[in-house]
Amino acid sequence: MSTLLERLLRRNRAVSARDALRLRRGPTGWLIVFAVALMSAIAIGTVLTISKFREDAIERGKQDLESAALLLARHFDQRFDDFAVPQKAIIAVLESQGIESPDVFRSEMGTLAVHEVLRTRAGDGTDVVGAKLFDDDGNLINSSQRWPVPDITVANRAYFQQLKRDPRLRVAIEIVSSRTTWPQAIVFARRVSGLHGEFLGVVTRSIAPEALEAFFASTGLGAQASVTMHNTDGALLARYPHVDALIGRNFRSGPAAQRAVFEQPSFVGRLNSPIDGKDRLIASRKLTNYPLVIVASSTVDSALAAWRTQTKFFISVAGGSILLIALTLYLIFRRIARQLTLDKLRLDTAVNNISQGLLLFDASERLIVCNDKYIQMYGLSPNVIKPGCMLRDVIRHRKATGSFDGDVEPYYHHILRTKDTSTTYIVETSGGRLIQISNEPVSGGGWLITHEDVTERLRAEERIAHLAHYDSLTDLPNRILFREHVERKLAELAPDKKFAVLYIDVDEFKSINDSLGHHVGDEFLKSVASRLKSCVGPSDLVARLGGDEFAVVISSVSEPSELTALAEAIHRAIRHPSDCLGQEISSDASIGIAIAPGDGAELEDLLKNADLAMYAAKADGRHTHRFFAPEMNARMKARRALELDLRRTLSEGGFEIHYQPLVDLNTNVVAGCEALLRWRHPDRGMISPAEFIPLAEETGLINELGEWVLRRACADAAKWPDTVTLAVNVSPVQFKSRTLAMKVAAALGNSGLSPNRLELEITEAVLIRDDEEALAILHQLRDLGVRIALDDFGTGYSSLSYLRRFPFDKIKIDRSFVTDIAEVGGSSPIVQAVVSMAAARSMTTTAEGVETETQREVLRRLGCCQMQGYLFSPAVPAEKLGELLRSGPSHAVA
Ligand code: C2E
Ligand code: CA
Ligand code: CA
Repeated sequence: MSTLLERLLRRNRAVSARDALRLRRGPTGWLIVFAVALMSAIAIGTVLTISKFREDAIERGKQDLESAALLLARHFDQRFDDFAVPQKAIIAVLESQGIESPDVFRSEMGTLAVHEVLRTRAGDGTDVVGAKLFDDDGNLINSSQRWPVPDITVANRAYFQQLKRDPRLRVAIEIVSSRTTWPQAIVFARRVSGLHGEFLGVVTRSIAPEALEAFFASTGLGAQASVTMHNTDGALLARYPHVDALIGRNFRSGPAAQRAVFEQPSFVGRLNSPIDGKDRLIASRKLTNYPLVIVASSTVDSALAAWRTQTKFFISVAGGSILLIALTLYLIFRRIARQLTLDKLRLDTAVNNISQGLLLFDASERLIVCNDKYIQMYGLSPNVIKPGCMLRDVIRHRKATGSFDGDVEPYYHHILRTKDTSTTYIVETSGGRLIQISNEPVSGGGWLITHEDVTERLRAEERIAHLAHYDSLTDLPNRILFREHVERKLAELAPDKKFAVLYIDVDEFKSINDSLGHHVGDEFLKSVASRLKSCVGPSDLVARLGGDEFAVVISSVSEPSELTALAEAIHRAIRHPSDCLGQEISSDASIGIAIAPGDGAELEDLLKNADLAMYAAKADGRHTHRFFAPEMNARMKARRALELDLRRTLSEGGFEIHYQPLVDLNTNVVAGCEALLRWRHPDRGMISPAEFIPLAEETGLINELGEWVLRRACADAAKWPDTVTLAVNVSPVQFKSRTLAMKVAAALGNSGLSPNRLELEITEAVLIRDDEEALAILHQLRDLGVRIALDDFGTGYSSLSYLRRFPFDKIKIDRSFVTDIAEVGGSSPIVQAVVSMAAARSMTTTAEGVETETQREVLRRLGCCQMQGYLFSPAVPAEKLGELLRSGPSHAVA
């Protein structure tokens, strides 16, 4: 159980919150760590990738802008060179003439011919003004457009002033509000120098911002993008998309990034747009040959448009993965949690359904599991004794609630000392309960304690052990304990010391038991037991060996005379009448005595010899005691030999039957004869049936012997006169065989003897044993027509009650009543009573053992029907009987 429990407990611990630490260390913990790490990696990776992509997107946006700016700068360098070709040509012509003064210049250039040259050399277009000539005061002197020229001055224009002021400056560009052509125009002004480098005037050529803006649009930078052209002073010349209000505005002043655009040959950066205030990426590039800057810009927003789509995709993929992992983890945990709940339920069920109180502590003396049984066992409070509570608190609570008597600290230390070993011990509670406490260490330093109330079990075991060694009726030691005791005594016997074994057989117990009932018999045995105990000392042992056999072991004997005195005391005790359920009963005993070691130093020898001594006492007429003597052994051997002889004799036909006549007391006529068995032994002569019938009964030989007597006697009687009946003794043992009636019928049939001439003599012992069976057989016999006589009447206990049970034909009054019948105070009143009772029930009476004439006379007067005894004749052989019968009554009476 402990391993299963441990396993369950280990799992169970994972459930408790306070052991979350343990969970982290376990495989589930690693799973969580791994999953969280994976999710974090996905999240971090996604963020890093996204920000990298963002940087890339911005970088790419910048690159796009940079290359656009570069291409545009190159394009316009080229385009403005082409644009400058007519101007340069005009200037070349003018300068080649070597004009020395502005007046000359003015007068020579302000002619129709020059106008024609201008018109052909630099034709006007829709968004291009071919050429204009201004003198050193800024007045228009000629133009490709119109002739005569209108009165126009550019003296206050910046480009004019710059070119006039700085002789090294070749070209100046400015956006101006046009008075003639488009609302605004970009003016490219070039200086015309005289022979010695003096300022003569300027040649301008203009272009509409829209002409440039149309090209900007062709770069296709996207909706959020803008392309502008500034001169290096910061003035905005053109912009795509076009915003009228912005053209001409100066952007030079502003944050550093903005200024850098006008100061550095190229610039890439990010700034807040001064135009729309948006966060923008910009790239600028100065033209090589002109003081112009191309600026391409786009909002960061638009640069990140693609990145945003990517980001959404990344985030959804990463989010999906994290969600999937979390879901998987959740499902795993839910499953584990369910399993754990189930395990906990199983554990709780298991723990709460065991018959022991159970406590499980961990290495820190903390209670982990405690079942209901433990709480109930000691009547504790489940609010105190619960998981988490400390060992010391458990003991204190038990002390406080009264289920523990000892001192808390010593017991606490005792438990700590023994917790790492498997131990089991039993303690007794103040309430007298016996509790078996078992301690079992579990892995990890904890230990399991079980408490089991073993009171009933131990008491039952004690009872069983007691039953195995004690007799349940008398509570005396039984044969087993008796033998053990004797064996021990023999083993421990000191030299020169002796002890005695007495075998005591209660005489006549069987008939007490049988006639008065088992309850009375049992009571009688109990009284014998207590009387025997009263006869011996405290160190002596009285045992009941079974039935009516008792034994006494006298632990120390110095003189045999002590034992004689003891035997006599026992006799007296048993003889003394005792009241058993209202019946006055007294009996006697046959006692056999053997003294160790003289009568046997070995258990079997000693007991066998005590037994032999007891048999000797019985054989010597009971009511006495005998010390073992070696001859008894010989006598027992002789008895065995006799038994063998008996069998042989029966098979070889060594038995004979003698007949004793029964005489009618009124007529003195022989009315019948009783068949009495005789054994003529070749060595020992005639042996009395009193000597061998009991042996034949004991060995079962009586069945064959009795059948032989029956057949033989019937055959003999068939030869007698019809008036003479035959009486045959039937042993109670023969009544155990159900074939008795059949055998009787066969004997009658074979001999031809009439059934009414056969009388069967039975003793009351027949009816004692198994009333119903025997009664049935008796009735069968009666049905054959055979008569039944009750033999030895008066010797038993309740002869009268048997008379009521079966309608006997005859009562044979026992010799013991006849012996003293003639004496004063003798048995005549009893005989008188029997005779009148028998007469009342139509039974005849026969008196046995009539030896004197006086006895015969008394019996005749008392009304007895027949007599039998030596007075008339002892039992005689069959041949002799013939004479007797023929001699007639007159002879007999003499
Ligand atoms: P029992 O049936 O009471 O037989 C009468 C006994 O008294 C006989 O002893 C007989 O010889 C003896 N007896 C007769 N008259 C006198 C007398 O005047 N004085 C004295 N002292 N004794 C007298 P026995 O023949 O020795 O038989 C002893 C017992 O053996 C019988 O007692 C009977 O119980 C039993 N027995 C004899 N033969 C058989 C038999 O064939 N079958 C059975 N089952 N038992 C038998
Ligand atoms: Ca008889
Ligand atoms: Ca008799």
